[in-house]
Amino acid sequence: MEEPLYLNDCYLKEFEATVKEVNGRFVVLDQTAFYPEGGGQPSDQGLLKSAKGNFIVKFVKKISGAIQHEVDNEGLEAGDKIKGEVDWYRRYRLMRYHTAAHVVSGVVNSMTGALITGNQLGEDKSRVDFDLENFNPDILKEVENKSNDAIKKAIPVLIENMPREKAMEIPSVFKLKMMLPESLQTIRVVSIGDVDRQACGGTHLKNTSEIKRLTITKTENKGKNNRRLYFVLNE
Ligand SMILES: [Zn+2]
Repeated sequence: MEEPLYLNDCYLKEFEATVKEVNGRFVVLDQTAFYPEGGGQPSDQGLLKSAKGNFIVKFVKKISGAIQHEVDNEGLEAGDKIKGEVDWYRRYRLMRYHTAAHVVSGVVNSMTGALITGNQLGEDKSRVDFDLENFNPDILKEVENKSNDAIKKAIPVLIENMPREKAMEIPSVFKLKMMLPESLQTIRVVSIGDVDRQACGGTHLKNTSEIKRLTITKTENKGKNNRRLYFVLNE
């Protein structure tokens, strides 16, 4: 399996790699900083530069264990050396939205006890789903204020890899254990002070201050016990 560089260094924008396998316009590398779509976070985009020219990375997805980079043209071959460049404007916005989604879900959980049941991140807005019967409109402003307080406090974001048994000792990780496949023996735990602590394989900011500020825009009822909350980031 190729080395997923984005897990160890979420701020890696450029890297060198060797092409391992090519199937039409789908390219597998020996290591990559491109995040493959997953966990509500859209895939990275960017460029693979090679002696044969530049190939635009349009979409990245993990398919049967291999991270596949879909490029705009055929032409790369196994053994080719490439330099990868992640579209940083897009990725950094997704990291800001992703870390903000953790803050919001931590705040909602501490106020209501509701657990996050899903999320979809975007470059311009994001949404988080909660297992909740009722979203009292009165508390939304408070969720927003408490989230922005956590952002202003400039809380460091800590990422740790730990054995499954140890991760299961963390109550907030244990509560959502159904989201973690049994096959995962090492769990990546993302902690934001006492605001949120969750298992997560996504890319994150180093500090909540980089989120800057968020605004909750609306909520929706998505069936019984499913409340959806939308937010945007302000510059
Ligand atoms: Zn996450």
